Amino acid sequence: MNKENQKTCNGYEAMFTFLNEDDFNEHLKVCEECAKEHARMQRVSELIQEAKPYIKEKQKRRTILKSAAAVFVVAFATLSIPLCMTGVNMYDNMVAQNSLTAQELGLPVDEYGFLYVE
Ligand SMILES: [Zn+2]
Repeated sequence: MNKENQKTCNGYEAMFTFLNEDDFNEHLKVCEECAKEHARMQRVSELIQEAKPYIKEKQKRRTILKSAAAVFVVAFATLSIPLCMTGVNMYDNMVAQNSLTAQELGLPVDEYGFLYVE
């Protein structure tokens, strides 16, 4: 390491922040301190890269869970409407089945089963 380079080095973070990629790589070749620091950062970066799929997987799972919850809410809302209508229909059918027709009541009816009034 020559003194000229040591003089121009303001520390790894400063060099990393203020130099462009080419100049920074050039600096790494001549500055032992920054090269060491860079190697350490590379390792950290690698660890982050390795951890990324796990983090992503976790996020994906949370998204699926959220989607499932949303689908459930929508499905429930969609299904509950016909269910209510079915309930109404069932109620109507029950009323219709329990209601006696005019004919059953022994009243005079016409050929269509309607109450016949002379
Ligand atoms: Zn340096």
